[in-house]
Formats: sequence, C-alpha cells, structure tokens
Amino acid sequence: MHVNSCGSMADLDALKTICTEHNLILLEDACQSIGGTYKGKALGTIGHAGTFSFDFVKTITCGEGGVVMTNSEEVWTKCDGYTDHGHDHKGVDRGADLHPFIGYNFRISELHAAVGLAQIRKLDTFLSLQRKHNKALRAYLETIPEVSFRKVPDEAGDSCSFLSWFLPTEELTKAVIAEMKEQGILAGNFYWYANNWHYISKWDHLKNATTLNKLSDVQQQALLKLKDSSFTASDAVMSRCISTAISLLWTEEQIKEKGEKMVAVIKKVLTNATVNA
Ligand SMILES: *Cc1c(COP(=O)(O)O)cnc(C)c1O
Repeated sequence: MHVNSCGSMADLDALKTICTEHNLILLEDACQSIGGTYKGKALGTIGHAGTFSFDFVKTITCGEGGVVMTNSEEVWTKCDGYTDHGHDHKGVDRGADLHPFIGYNFRISELHAAVGLAQIRKLDTFLSLQRKHNKALRAYLETIPEVSFRKVPDEAGDSCSFLSWFLPTEELTKAVIAEMKEQGILAGNFYWYANNWHYISKWDHLKNATTLNKLSDVQQQALLKLKDSSFTASDAVMSRCISTAISLLWTEEQIKEKGEKMVAVIKKVLTNATVNA
C-alpha cells in the first residue's frame, strides 16, 4: 500500500511489477489525489482497491467521510458489510439482515453524502484551477537553478493540489523554512520532515505500539519492528522537501506576490550560505 501523496502519484508500473512478481495485492491510498490519473487511468482505481478521503482539507469534501473503490465484487460486498456492522443488506429490513462477519459503523451519513454529490460536480473546475495556479507558481521557483521539483511519473496526471520542491541540502531547506516563518509567509508551506503527523520520525505511538485496545502479537511485533528500521533513503528526500498547498482562491496578483516573496526568501538564504561558506 502506497500513498499517492500531495495530489500526485507513485511509480505505479514499478509497484505493479513488484506485486505481480511476489503475488501481492496493490492498495492505493489516493486520499490526497482525487482527479489525478496515471497513464490515463484514475488514481485509486489502478490497484485492487483504492480510497479517497472527503475530510475537510481534501480536494473535495463531504465535511467528513470517504470511499473505497474496487473492481472486485467480493471486495465491494465485504466493504459494504464491514462499514455497517457486518450487515449483508439482503434482508427485507435491518432486523432481517444476516451478519457473515463483524463490522464497524464507518457509514457516511445521507447528509454528508449529499454535500459530496454537489462537490463532485465541481471537481473538474477545482482541478483546472489547481493546475493553472500550480503552473503559475512553479514558474517563479523555476527561475532559481538550485531549486528542483518532485519527480512526477505522469506529469499530465498530476492533480496539482500541491507543488513539492527541493533545496540542495537539509540545512538550506531548514533555513528557508525559518526565513519564511520570519517573514510571515510560511502558511500553506509544509516541511513534512519535521512535522509530528506526516512523517515517521515522530510517530512514537506507532513505534511503541501504544494502543488503547490489545493488539494481536503479530500486529504488535510488526509495529515494534519500526523502531529499529532505518529510513535513511526517505530521510534524504524528505529533509529537503517543501510542499506548497495550491489554493483555488488565489488571484493572479496574489500568485505573483507569493512567487516573488518565495523567490526572495530562497535567494536570501542561498546568498547567506555562500557568504558564510
Ligand atoms: C486525509 C488522509 C487520510 C485519512 O482520511 P480520513 O478521511 O481523515 O480518514 C488517509 N490517507 C491520506 C494520505 C490522507 O491524506
């Protein structure tokens, strides 16, 4: 299970090859990438099953909720029961349903779903704005040779909800973040590497397997293994990455102002580093 993170996608051909070779199923967390595609296929529909989240920060929202997508009737039937206390939905009423397995109440409400239906109609508009604003902001950062950009396996399929960019070193990246904070322009720019929620270095609850319920031994051992795992390859990438959230509401004037301020901050940091070297 990979994450099609920040509006874009994983290298899906490579993952599919690994799955086929080792007889694994491929699950797509596409919660951040609705509307994105890979070689013409919608993200979230390429693996055996995929998910979208409709929580309040996602590209489209129901307030809360999400969906599972699959082409497998068996998975669909199991998801349908699992999200609703294990009901098989074959009875003439709720009391007549049978329960082939234990489920949960992960149902989306009718009211939330109604909001979601209205949002879906706006998705194409949102995507075209995201793509336009992303491209416009990127043009400013592209003027700095030291800045590089996330490798997107299929550029045409990027939903463009974020622009993820890199500086040459961790030190420079941290300095840019500090300077953006200093100048009051940090909002909407995410340094996932140092954040308590989006990167594994701070996931002590997971690494210590701290749960309120009792885990099975297998689950617990799997989590505890993370403690001794090394993530140096990921660290090397994430310590240099800043993701800028793309707003639907920006005007051309605001993009210009934002772009110019970001470029000024980066140039200032790069110049200081050269002077101090
Ligand atoms: C938002 C998100 C989730 C969780 O979605 P919820 O609707 O809050 O459960 C899972 N994975 C990714 C990658 C997300 O961005």
